[in-house]
Amino acid sequence: MYQDVLLHVGGQWRAAQGGKTIDILNPATEEVIGKLAHANTADLDEALDWAAKGFAQWRKMSAYDRSKVMRKAADLLRERLDKIATLMTMEQGKPLAEAKVELAGSADVIDWFAEEGRRAYGRVIPARLPGVYQMSLREPVGVVAGFTPWNFPVSQAVRKISAALAAGCAFILKGPEETPASCAELVRCYVDAGVPAGVVQIVFGVPAEISEYLIPHPTVRKVSFTGSTAVGKHLASLAGKHMKRVTMELGGHAPALVFDDADLDQAATILAANKFRNAGQVCVAPTRFLVQEGVYEPFLEKFVAKCEAIKLGNGLEDGTTMGPLANDRRVSAMESFIADAVGKGAKVRTGGKRSGNKGYFFEPTVLTDIAPDARVLHEEPFGPLALFVPFKNYEEAIAEANRLEYGLASYAYTRNTGRVTALGHDIQAGMVGINHHGLAVPETPFGGVKDSGYGSEGGAEGLEPYLVTKFVTQASA
Ligand code: NAD
Repeated sequence: MYQDVLLHVGGQWRAAQGGKTIDILNPATEEVIGKLAHANTADLDEALDWAAKGFAQWRKMSAYDRSKVMRKAADLLRERLDKIATLMTMEQGKPLAEAKVELAGSADVIDWFAEEGRRAYGRVIPARLPGVYQMSLREPVGVVAGFTPWNFPVSQAVRKISAALAAGCAFILKGPEETPASCAELVRCYVDAGVPAGVVQIVFGVPAEISEYLIPHPTVRKVSFTGSTAVGKHLASLAGKHMKRVTMELGGHAPALVFDDADLDQAATILAANKFRNAGQVCVAPTRFLVQEGVYEPFLEKFVAKCEAIKLGNGLEDGTTMGPLANDRRVSAMESFIADAVGKGAKVRTGGKRSGNKGYFFEPTVLTDIAPDARVLHEEPFGPLALFVPFKNYEEAIAEANRLEYGLASYAYTRNTGRVTALGHDIQAGMVGINHHGLAVPETPFGGVKDSGYGSEGGAEGLEPYLVTKFVTQASA
């Protein structure tokens, strides 16, 4: 059922002008499952022309009418959920049930922004003179260039596109080349719902070539990127050079603090589920498990039992709870992080290696006794590695939680209510989940601080990056 994936430019689904394609692999089988159209600069020029036309039309439509089109796109996504989920599992690897959850959540995101766009309120500011009206108006920023990764092919794209469309912007998406079909199907939902030609377009190709071309282009007024901190810094500097507004959703290295008064069963269940969801390829996945000394061993045992109950397999097979890694780069990355840590004295408590010799399967892994200079305690592993580190007291836990330049998600488990409040203040992160996971729902802000980026992709805050403020003052003539 997997078909070749085309570009969507100027209201048409079509091959790249140069006719070039690249192979799409299934990470569970390593087989080629399709071909992807690979854009060149002529395709990008066409997309830019159409984006300018699409923007001129879409911004004039009322927020009410835009909202109706978007709600229809959400309904189409729900209707097509089973088919798109299968495509996603085939190209990305995640279990089918996880793909379905991602899509259901994505439809909710469209609905949320469809309504939020109707509340892009300005202000009337009391004037100093009679007969003068001073207004602060919110207007769409313009054409947006978005770049989204392969770990959540639909949900990474849907937040950016929906917020932009709700604000009245047009969007050119550089989708994920390794997981393109499900992302293209998301675009098809907006298109089939009736967005005018040029309002949502999708291209694929060489990421660096596309970003270097689109970001400086005068038609593009805003850049939104999700991916690694290194690439994010590069794109932010390019955008800065050309005075483009920017949203950056970058890497994380989330600390999960488990105190000696925590409900250990609850903590192990929730943290293990979120560590190994999407095979750990999640920017908000708990990574550094900081556990208070008195409960370190019992919590570790409970957590390891959860790891060993995970059923690794092809995401399309019933009963699979963790699929393969999405590409071979992640397998090499896991092997290299583990070899480095073990070489410096770390112990592998469970897992630790590739599984099977076909597909990019990697065992859920727990490392203990990790030396402070092990690379994995500094760089985002972005895979199924849980790093256990004991701590003595609150101050030591906070110091370790805040040690890195990352500041995306963080988690803590404790029954002490005073500590619950203090944690919310003391952890340097864009998101703090205490005694439950609870992140990344449409109505709440999602984003990081420090090297994890800037801007927010959820909640009322999620619309802001796509709006500019205009001041109008008028006096009766
Ligand atoms: P990578 O750093 O090369 O790419 C990360 C993402 O950025 C990909 O989607 C890629 O297409 C895109 N990209 C890379 N160079 C680009 C450029 N010059 N212009 C525009 N887009 C560009 O590495 P990778 O192997 O694909 O992913 C590995 C790392 O990326 C992970 O370790 C993780 O830190 C990060 N990552 C983060 C997220 C996230 O949700 N924040 C998602 C995927 C990957």
